[in-house]
Amino acid sequence: MYLCCLSQDHPSYNGCTPELRISDGFLIKVYAPSDPEDHSEHLGEPAFAAVLKAAYLVEPRRASTAVFKFSGTLGVSNRIDKKSATIMAFSHFVLQETACQYMFSDIQGTPMTSSKGKDTTIVLFDPMTHTLKGKSGLGDHGLDGIRTFIEQHQCSPICRAISLCDSQALKVTYDALKPGEGSQTVDTDMESSDDE
Ligand SMILES: [Zn+2]
Repeated sequence: MYLCCLSQDHPSYNGCTPELRISDGFLIKVYAPSDPEDHSEHLGEPAFAAVLKAAYLVEPRRASTAVFKFSGTLGVSNRIDKKSATIMAFSHFVLQETACQYMFSDIQGTPMTSSKGKDTTIVLFDPMTHTLKGKSGLGDHGLDGIRTFIEQHQCSPICRAISLCDSQALKVTYDALKPGEGSQTVDTDMESSDDE
């Protein structure tokens, strides 16, 4: 959706996908029985209630160890080079689309040269998120993280080209949030379940 906005509304992209890719990846979760003495089974599967003990994000090995940081867990970059502005406009876009209840932070990437050897792509990996409940995983600072972005982010020409709202509008939306009132939570597939 964000890439559609870019290609439609920002002339410098000319309908092309930006030179950014998102790494593949999957999670490994390690569970343990809540009651170590319960060895019962149901249809061949353990019947005990499982408790999540650890989760690991597994991504393909990257050819380069160089890392470009576009944003920190709480810090915001206001660099105006095209890639940085594209990434920060993405954070702004997600925050706006979720009514200030979800945002990406700690966005970083590694340069990779295409198989043809002439194009360099930035592969984004291992982001963090800030969510309304602050339970999406390691580095989720909840509303504090969201507020920090709203206070520090300076819209670039890319934000304006795709008609994102300004920081004041984000602040008004943020101020209307009432922590702890789940009825106001946006039901988004992006938010991790509580057990992750
Ligand atoms: Zn912006």
